[in-house]
Amino acid sequence: MLELYSKKEEHLPQISESELSDAEVMEEMFSIKERLKDRVIVLGHHYQQDDVISLADIKGDSLKLAQEAAKLDKEFIIFCGVHFMAETADMLTSLEQKVILPDLKAGCSMADMANRTEIDRAWSYIRNSTKQSIIPITYINCDAQLKAFVGENEGAICTSSNAEKVIKWALEKGEKLLFFPDQHLGRNTCFEMGIKLEEMVVYNPNHLNGGLTSEQIDKAKVILWYGYCSVHQGFQVDQVKKIKQESPDTIVLVHPECNFDVVQASDLNGSTSFIIEQVKKAKAGDKFAIGTEINLVNRLAHEYPHLEIRSLSPYQCLCTTMYRVRPRWLLESFRSIERGEPINVIKVNEETKKLSLLALQRMLEIS
Ligand code: SF4
Repeated sequence: MLELYSKKEEHLPQISESELSDAEVMEEMFSIKERLKDRVIVLGHHYQQDDVISLADIKGDSLKLAQEAAKLDKEFIIFCGVHFMAETADMLTSLEQKVILPDLKAGCSMADMANRTEIDRAWSYIRNSTKQSIIPITYINCDAQLKAFVGENEGAICTSSNAEKVIKWALEKGEKLLFFPDQHLGRNTCFEMGIKLEEMVVYNPNHLNGGLTSEQIDKAKVILWYGYCSVHQGFQVDQVKKIKQESPDTIVLVHPECNFDVVQASDLNGSTSFIIEQVKKAKAGDKFAIGTEINLVNRLAHEYPHLEIRSLSPYQCLCTTMYRVRPRWLLESFRSIERGEPINVIKVNEETKKLSLLALQRMLEIS
């Protein structure tokens, strides 16, 4: 469940298509953005739709946007991404700065797969099952309460760009790892670091004691949470095999949120930034089948016409929650700032923020 810090403040976007056409929305947006340029900055995640990305002052993946947010001095940050990213930006900015999410319903299905009650219950069971020291690591795609949990328990946050470094740090510090909420990023990264599949177990919060005996927990090196990204889960190993049969020289390049079999069958895997880097440095005529969100894949295909770029999947692997941020909702955010009544401001409470920052700062130092 997506937690809104103040449901009363939730503002449903109002600008209808009968009031303004899409072209008029963009026209007004460029002029209002110019008027507010000393006070407002727009951050955009790579999975946003093209019109939204065209308005972003800074675009990036979760790590880059978190690093950039920590350096911003503007009064308002409009975050074109999903809820956990806006929360992270709020934690990294000052009390006076305001972070706005154009649509409060832009959540993340993966982040919703772990909540604080479930994590507390799992932590207690896991700690009672072993005498070994355990370090909790959360993928940044989670609610602020989980970031606070990790901060409080000597752990750290990671993104797909720095997961290996953070996991290495954690395993130097403790004997075991609890990794949530994305089992695939955890499994794929640990496996590449030389940890065997037999040393990893999956804790499923829908089962009693996560479906694990104390003995299984005691033997495991890594305890993975049963969570996943519904978008990246859409890529299948059969799609990789089909592409390799039809076009053996096509490079299959996937995100580590894809399942283990897909990542193993691919040629390359890495974060969103890694994927973009591979495309940037490719030579004319190179072919790619990319396993990540469709808005990014289509944009890369458009920006690099000398390459052959397509999605790994024949289906549209679209992040529907990222897609909720529409240009007209962004305009609504700008208008609200201009009239002095900003809407959809994301505020993390101070105690949660303080603890989460411990984990976030550890991540930024390790990265
Ligand atoms: S792509 Fe997946 S992990 Fe990223 S925001 Fe969408 S649902 Fe969440």
